[in-house]
Amino acid sequence: MLAPALPPPGAAVTPPPRPLLALPPRPALRRGLWALPLLLSLAFVALVLAWLRANERADLELQRLELISDALSLESQVGARIEREALLLRELAQRLGTEPQALRAVTAHFAGLPEVQQGMRRFWLSVTWLDTANRIQAHLPEQAPRPGAAEASVPQSVGLSAHLSAAVPGGGALVARYSPTEMLRQNVPWWLARKYDVRIVGILGEVTASTTDGRELPDRQSYRISMAPTFADSYLELIARDRIAPWYRSFPIAMVAGFVLLIGAITWMLRRQVLDVSRAEAAWRTEAAWRSAMEDSLTVGLRARDLEGRLVYVNRALTDMVGYSADELVGHMPPMAYWPADDTEESMQRHQRNMAGAAPRGGYEARWQHRDGKRIDVMIFEAPLVDAGNRQIGWMGSILDITATKRAEERERHQVDTMTHHARLTMLGEVASTLAHELNQPLTAISSYNAGVINSMQRQAAPDPVLLRALQRLGEQAAHAGRIVQRIREFLTRREPQLEACALNAVVEGGVALLKRELERQRVHVDLHLCADLPLVVADAVLVEQVVINLVRNAADALAETSTHGIESEPVERRVEVRTLRSSDPRFVRIDVRDNGPGLEGRRVEALCAAFYSTKRDGMGMGLAICRSILEAHHGALDASEAPGGGACFSLTLPVDRVPTAQAAFEAETA
Ligand code: ADP
Repeated sequence: MLAPALPPPGAAVTPPPRPLLALPPRPALRRGLWALPLLLSLAFVALVLAWLRANERADLELQRLELISDALSLESQVGARIEREALLLRELAQRLGTEPQALRAVTAHFAGLPEVQQGMRRFWLSVTWLDTANRIQAHLPEQAPRPGAAEASVPQSVGLSAHLSAAVPGGGALVARYSPTEMLRQNVPWWLARKYDVRIVGILGEVTASTTDGRELPDRQSYRISMAPTFADSYLELIARDRIAPWYRSFPIAMVAGFVLLIGAITWMLRRQVLDVSRAEAAWRTEAAWRSAMEDSLTVGLRARDLEGRLVYVNRALTDMVGYSADELVGHMPPMAYWPADDTEESMQRHQRNMAGAAPRGGYEARWQHRDGKRIDVMIFEAPLVDAGNRQIGWMGSILDITATKRAEERERHQVDTMTHHARLTMLGEVASTLAHELNQPLTAISSYNAGVINSMQRQAAPDPVLLRALQRLGEQAAHAGRIVQRIREFLTRREPQLEACALNAVVEGGVALLKRELERQRVHVDLHLCADLPLVVADAVLVEQVVINLVRNAADALAETSTHGIESEPVERRVEVRTLRSSDPRFVRIDVRDNGPGLEGRRVEALCAAFYSTKRDGMGMGLAICRSILEAHHGALDASEAPGGGACFSLTLPVDRVPTAQAAFEAETA
C-alpha cells in the first residue's frame, strides 16, 4: 500500500548526474584571455630586443660616420703639417745654401740657427747636413744619437722615426729625422685625442706612431685612411676609445623597467577582470536566489529529466506533491517511487512514449501516489529542454495537482445527476397533476352520469338488479380511478419544500456554475449582474435554483439555434445575462434571464408555460410550466417579454417578506 522504499526495485541508481544546464559557451576570444599577459610579455620582450638592437645599430652607424669625418679632417691636418715641416726644411736648406763657405762646417753655427732650434723644439729628432759626397757637414744633436735616447719619450712600440730631406743649393742635402708619434701628439687636437686612439700604421699593420701606448683596444670601431702621398704605404688609423655598449648590456634594465610597466598594466586589467567577475557573481547569486524563490513559490511541480529519463531536477512543489525529498528523487531512473504499484506498466509505457517525444502537446493526465499512500491526480505537460546551443538535452515537465478539481468535477456530475433526477420526478408530478386535472372532469362526469342512471333506475318499479349492481360497481370504479389519479399526483408532486432564508445571488451563482460546462460547450457566454444589497428571501433554494437553471438552459437552447456569424460574417457572441435586482415593488425581488437569441416571436408567457408546449425536437414542454408552479407556490410569478435589442427576457419575482409559515401555505398549495 505504501510506495516502494527508495531506491525502487530495478531503478538504476547512478552517481549524481553531471550538471544538465551548462553555462553558455563564451566567445573564443574571451576564453583565451588568460594567455594575454604571457603574450603581452613575449611581445614586449621581442619589442625591447628589436629596439635595443636598432639603437645599437644606429649608435654604431653614427660613431662610424663621425669616425670617417674625423679621420678625413685629421688626415688633411696631418698632411698639411708634414707639408709645412717640409717647407720649413726647404727654407732652411735655402738659407744654408746662401751661407758663407767658412761657416758651413761649423756645427755651432748650424746649431745656432733659429730654424734648426725651432725644428728641434718641435718634433725633430735630429737634423743632418750632408755635402755632395754625403759626408756629414753638421749634425744635431752634436753627439751621436744614442739609440733610443731621442725616442725616450716615445713609447718603444711606436718608436719608429721618419725623415724629411731638402736639397741645399750648391750641393748637399739637409735631412731631418723626426718622430711621427711626437708629431701626432703635438698636432692631434685634445678633443680628438680623447675620443680616438690615433695611429699611423704600415701596410702590414705595424704601428709606426700612436697617440697612446699602442695597446690594442678590442671591440672598438676603427677607420683607416691612406696617408699617401705624405707617407707612402702608411695609413692614418682612428680607433674609437668609446665602445658602443652591446644591446644586451642595456637589456636587463630595459626589461625591468618594461616589466614594471607591464605588471602595472596587467594588474589594472586583472583588477577590472576581478571586478567584472565579482559583479557577475553577485548578479548570478541574485538570479539564483530569485530563481529558487520563484521555483519554491510555484504551486506547479517542475521536473527535468535527461534524455535517458533520469531525473535531474525537481522543485519543492513536486517534492511536496509526492512526499519524497529531492535527494530521494534526483538521479533515479523509472520506475519512479511515486508511481502506483498497480499502475507501473501503464506508467512505464507513458514514460517511453514521452521519451520518444510523443507526449500530447496539450498535456496528459496521470495518477501518482504520495509517499503516505494517498492517490493524486496530476496533469503533466512535457516540453523539450534545450541548452544554449539549441541542442535538446532532456525534457522539462510541469505538473499540476488536479486531485481537488477532479473531485469537484465528480461532485458536480453527481449533483447534476441528482438534479436531473429531481427534475424528472417534478416533471412526472406535473404530468400526473395535469392528467389528474384533465381526467378529473371525465371521471366526475362518468360518476354523475352513473349516479343519474342509478337514481332513475331506482325510481323504476322493477329495476334490473344485475344492471343496477353493475352501475353501482361502475360508480365505485370511477371514484376509485379518481382517487388513484389523485394519490399518484400527490405522491409525485409532494416534495417537502425546505423553506429557509436564502440569498438569491448565491442561488443564481450556484445554478450558473452547474451549467458551466454545458454553456462552454455551446459557446454561450454568461454575464452575472448581481445586486449587492439584495434582501434575503424565504424560499426553497433548490427549487429556485432549478427555475434559474431551466431559464438559463432555455436561453442557451434558443441561442444554439442562432448562427455564430451574422449576415456580414461578423461574429455574433451568444450572450445570456442574468441579473438580480429589487423589483419596482419593494416587496419583491426579481431575477431577469435575458438572451440575444431569436426572441419570443409574439408568444405570450401563458402560451409558453402551457403544459407540453415545446418547439424543440426533443422538448417535453414542461419546463416553464414547472417553473411557474414553483414560483406560484412561493407566491411569486413568472413573466416573459421581448428584450429590447432582440432576444427574450424571462423575469421571476419572489416576495421578500414571506414568513416561514410559507411552509403551511406551500402545503396547502400543493395539496
Ligand atoms: P422545452 O424546453 O422542453 O421546450 P419549456 O417549457 O422549457 O419546454 O419551453 C417551452 C418553449 O418556450 C420552448 O420550446 C421554446 O419554444 C420557448 N422558449 C423558452 N425559452 C425561450 C427563450 N429564451 N427564447 C425563445 N423561446 C423560448
